[in-house]
Order: sequence, then structure tokens, then C-alpha cells
Amino acid sequence: SQPWARYEIDRVIPPKYKGNDATISRENATLFTLCRNSELYEILDSIQQLETRFNGNFHYDWVFLNEEPFSPEFIELTSNMVSGRARYGLIPRKHWSYPPFIDQERAKEIRESRKWSAITYGSSESYRHMCRFNSLFFYKHPIMEEYDYYWRVEPHVNFACDIIDDPFKFLKENKKKYGFTISMRELPNTIESLWATSKLYFKKLATNVFDAEQTHNLLNFISDDGGESYNYCHYWTNFEIADLSIYRNDIYEGYVQHLDQAGGFFYERWGDAPIHSIIFSLILDMDEIFLFQNISYEHTVAKTCPMNDAFRKEAKCICNPVEDWTIRSESCCNLKFLEVGSCEKNTDLDKYL
Ligand code: GDP
Ligand code: MN
Repeated sequence: SQPWARYEIDRVIPPKYKGNDATISRENATLFTLCRNSELYEILDSIQQLETRFNGNFHYDWVFLNEEPFSPEFIELTSNMVSGRARYGLIPRKHWSYPPFIDQERAKEIRESRKWSAITYGSSESYRHMCRFNSLFFYKHPIMEEYDYYWRVEPHVNFACDIIDDPFKFLKENKKKYGFTISMRELPNTIESLWATSKLYFKKLATNVFDAEQTHNLLNFISDDGGESYNYCHYWTNFEIADLSIYRNDIYEGYVQHLDQAGGFFYERWGDAPIHSIIFSLILDMDEIFLFQNISYEHTVAKTCPMNDAFRKEAKCICNPVEDWTIRSESCCNLKFLEVGSCEKNTDLDKYL
């Protein structure tokens, strides 16, 4: 392999590459995976499904990032499965380490004190770097800088239906900026001071984001009392299809810098999901955030199945709508999103409620 650039460790035209097909129109977009070498077989499963259900018809690039170099085996096996270009990037050290203003002793004590508590990943150091990377840096990676849209893909995901229409094209043509499939309540003990810290930032900006009527934003998705408190609803960011321009601007940058300075990535365990959710619900117009009700997605505890009987047939779905998590779980916020936002409900949703 050849060092194209300092942070691009490999660039592979896969054996099954079809990206030259000029009959296919694509957006300037990429599939994007952050993962570890040890997750090779789990990510192969995700890639195989998404290539079969979607990318085999479009051949988008797939960008893999890691804070350690990917192994030759990882590169060989993943690139063999991708039908677009496969690109492998190294995360710069300063995007995966402690900023100078963090007291690392204090951070360590906090992690150790949480070892036996019920805080999910409360004692993990790498998880915190991952959440900070997904909040502050992924869109700044030199490889990612080449794209306008990304689709985040993790290991351990399932897609139960064909994805017939190109979601990137859908976002662009409909002026949508952020798309998700599942939303749910965050664990309060991971973000004790996130809402207060966020409010300080938006108040200082002197925006009117806490006036939902005037701004036509989704404040009422993330707060049940007009912004007084956070209701913990967040777009589940392990699936995300979005326009990268929502990150590459002063308001977003100022927000995540403000959060970083407050130290909550390390002294608490702030996730990138509530962070993305808070700022985009406040800053974007509600029409710009889209719930992909016809992408059947599953990850760990939650799965969706399109509430559209005709579509399920057309898209060769293997999911049972009765087992959809999003209309059954107390923790899910999708129905709330459909209630307070401007997205239309799927055709047969009411039938399954
Ligand atoms: P969960 O979905 O919140 O349980 O978190 P995951 O363990 O799935 O991590 C989220 C994403 O970040 C997945 O794509 C992981 O592969 C990736 N990830 C998590 N920790 C690390 C890490 O230490 N290094 C790298 N390179 N990727 C990581
Ligand atoms: Mn995950």
C-alpha cells in the first residue's frame, strides 16, 4: 500500500468496484465507519447487508477510520466487499487524546468510581474518546473533508429491507440536513450537566432557539417544558445520514468547543447522540430533520420495520411490523417526533399502534 496522504493509510479499488458506471448518478457522499480491527467480522456483516440492500446499486465510497492503523487483513476483507472505493484513514493523535485543560487524574478517579455503578460505559476511557471524536472531529478528517454527505454505519447492525431510493439524493432534493431511524431516551446519569451547559451556550449566543414557534425548530422534541429541562430524547447516532455542512459552521464549532471546555466528555460520559440531538433540534428548521421510516434498521436493543405494507413487499423486507420497537417502547421518542415535528406518518402506522 501507498501513503497517499499522512492520514490516509490505504485507498483500495476493490475487485468488485463498479463506481465507474456512468449511468449511475451519485451525490458527493460516503458511507462512514469508525471501528477497531477487532471488530472485523462484525463490520463485514454490516457491509455485506448494506451492499446487498443498497450500495450494490449505487457504489458509494466507504470510509473507514481508526485511531490505530487498520490491519492488512481488515483492509483486504472489507475492501473485497465494498462496491465503491474503500478508503482507510488514521485519526490524528490530537483528535483522540486529552486536551490540555482536562485533569486526567480527576477523569481517572471518576472512571474508577463508576466501575461498579449502573452507568453504561461509565468506566471506559476509549468510549469517551469515541464520543468526543464523533462530536468534534469526524467531519474534519482529511478524507471526510472531501464529502458533502455521510451515512454512519457500525458493526452489529441489520437492515431488513432493500433501500430502494438513494437516501443521499432524497436529503439533497428535499433540502433535508439530518436523517435518523430511531430516537430514544438517554440515560440521565451519563449527562448530568449537559443541558445546563448547552443552555449557557445558546443563551450567550442570544439566539431565539428557545422560542419554538418563532424558529420553527424541534425544541419540543427535546424538551417537554419549553426548554426548562431536557427530556433525554435523542436521535440514535449509530445510524445517521446527514449533510456535513451542519457541522462545518461557527455555531456548531462554538457549541462543541464550549462543551469540550466544560469537560463533560471526560468528567461525565457525554454521548455524541444527545449532543447532535440538542444542537440540531434547536438550530435546524423542523423540516430539515427527517425520520427514515422506510429504512428498516436494527442495532442491539432496538429495531424498526416499515409501517407500510406495500413497501415491505416491494423492498423484500424480512421484518415483522408487529415487532417494531419504536412504537412499543416507553423509551422511544419516534412517535413524539412525528407528533411535534413536520414529518408525515408512514401510511399504515395507525394500523399497528
Ligand atoms: P454503542 O453502540 O454505544 O454500544 O458503542 P459501540 O461500542 O458500538 O461504539 C460506537 C462505534 O464506535 C462503533 O462503530 C465502534 O466500532 C466504534 N468504536 C468504539 N470504541 C472504539 C475505539 O476505541 N476505537 C475505534 N477505532 N472505534 C471504536
Ligand atoms: Mn454500537
